[in-house]
Amino acid sequence: MASLAVRYRYHGGVGTFTPLFSRWETVMLRFDLRRLILLLALTAVLLTVINGFYSGYQVQRDILIRNTLEAHRVYAAKVAYNTEVFLRATQQNLRVNAERLVEHMDDAAALQRELDLLQRSSDNFNNLVVFDERGVVRAATALPQLIGRRLESPGTHEALAKRRALISEPYRAVTGQLVMMISQPLFDRASHYRGYVGGSIRLREKNILHGLLGEHYYRDGSYLYVVDGKGRLIFHHDPARIMQDASSNPVVAAAMRGESGARPVTNTRGVAMLAGYAYVPSAHWGVVSQRPRAQALAELDQLMLTMAQYAAPLLLIIVVVVWWLSLQIARPLRQLAREAAAMDSHGATPRIEAVRSWYFEAQQLKQALLVGMRAMQQQLNRFRQESNTDALTGLGNRRELDSVLDDWKYSRQPFAVLMIDIDFFKSVNDSYGHDTGDQALTALAQLMRDSAREGDVVCRMGGEEFVMLLPGADAIGAERVAERLCSCVEAYRVPGLPPLTVSIGVAAGIADEAPEALLREADDALYQAKQQGRNRVVLAVV
Ligand code: GH3
Ligand code: MG
Ligand code: MG
Repeated sequence: MASLAVRYRYHGGVGTFTPLFSRWETVMLRFDLRRLILLLALTAVLLTVINGFYSGYQVQRDILIRNTLEAHRVYAAKVAYNTEVFLRATQQNLRVNAERLVEHMDDAAALQRELDLLQRSSDNFNNLVVFDERGVVRAATALPQLIGRRLESPGTHEALAKRRALISEPYRAVTGQLVMMISQPLFDRASHYRGYVGGSIRLREKNILHGLLGEHYYRDGSYLYVVDGKGRLIFHHDPARIMQDASSNPVVAAAMRGESGARPVTNTRGVAMLAGYAYVPSAHWGVVSQRPRAQALAELDQLMLTMAQYAAPLLLIIVVVVWWLSLQIARPLRQLAREAAAMDSHGATPRIEAVRSWYFEAQQLKQALLVGMRAMQQQLNRFRQESNTDALTGLGNRRELDSVLDDWKYSRQPFAVLMIDIDFFKSVNDSYGHDTGDQALTALAQLMRDSAREGDVVCRMGGEEFVMLLPGADAIGAERVAERLCSCVEAYRVPGLPPLTVSIGVAAGIADEAPEALLREADDALYQAKQQGRNRVVLAVV
């Protein structure tokens, strides 16, 4: 803004310099202090609110994400644990029953009876089958037509080859159905391998896993799925997705590595998820519980809306308070600025004094204005006085005389005029020099001043002519004053000069519309006095 003070454009004429503002400055000049404060305060409030909402949103979002992740981590871990317990219990159950089943290996009917009994004792399997050591079906609970057939399935081969308790990978059974098998080898008392008993679970049908894992598809979008050791889906709420490969999903990959935990992830279909995952050791399965991130965060919008509703009334109050305060702060400065602009108008000082400057800067400004105005007033008075004073004698000059007469005109003041002129003054100058002449003028001026009473006005009209105005004096009184002055001057000695004399014309009357007329009369009387021989007083004939 410093540049404002120096850049001016001249328009010609007197007093027509105007500051040269840039376009931006011109725009800003339209704003007054109140608007600026309001703008500042509202901007601050708005930014604070935005910041509050933004940080609130961030914090809430982080909390929501963390809580959702933790909930799904815990849930996946719990389900994985339950599954592990179930699988172990099922294997244990098969192991116990295997000892009984192997007793009846050579009695088909008894074997079938025992197997049916086992099937009925739990809902764990869709089908229970006893194979002999060559892989021929000896008994089956759901598919009697299989009995006597040798089954060539990956599950059968693996069980026969490994001869130990197994949980198979999913495979397509002879029936064409997608199954997985939990099997237990059959060893007789002599520890000879006699085959195995296997319980199959059909993956695409409702099975024990559904009961165990639950219908975990909630309205909030959360759901759970299970992958086998190769990352293929073996449990999913959408049956069509069973056996699809999900190993590229990072949480599936982590679960397959035997890890448990939780993390945000984008699934194989490109949906951002908040997923918890856990590992089922005995089957090498992974359990993933998850919720779409967008759905988890949807609550946040509602939360923000509620927050905004709570904040709105208070915000409104804040805005009103800010508006009111900005008015209060701006008011004294506004008033002072207005008064400063009209500083030369009548009554500016009392109006400035009346401004309630209730804070430091306003008070400072007010004081500065008042001090400045007082100084300006004093200066003006001095100028006025100087311009109304005769420099040589210190008496009033012609202007002073006019101004006094002007005042008296309105009050119709009665007054008398003494028009005084020094006799033969030119010869004083000529004989003794101008400076001595000046000294004589000053000395006679002092004589006149001394002979004046309180309220009398003594002026030097110019040259060696003087005027005395005697308010309230009549012609006789004025004549007496004039005579006395005449004698005084005659008796007085200016050092180095012969006696000086004055001639005086006197007139008396009332100051009306044209008080100058009385001056003219006195002037005429003075002329008479000169004509009559000087060093005398002549009273004007009215
Ligand atoms: P009279 O009035 O008696 O007719 O004669 P006068 O010589 O006084 O008249 P005049 O008006 O002719 O002369 C006035 C003189 O006053 C002229 C000038 O030399 C002198 N004078 C005027 N103003 C000044 C001044 O400021 N200082 C001095 N020293 N002399 C002045
Ligand atoms: Mg003269
Ligand atoms: Mg003269």
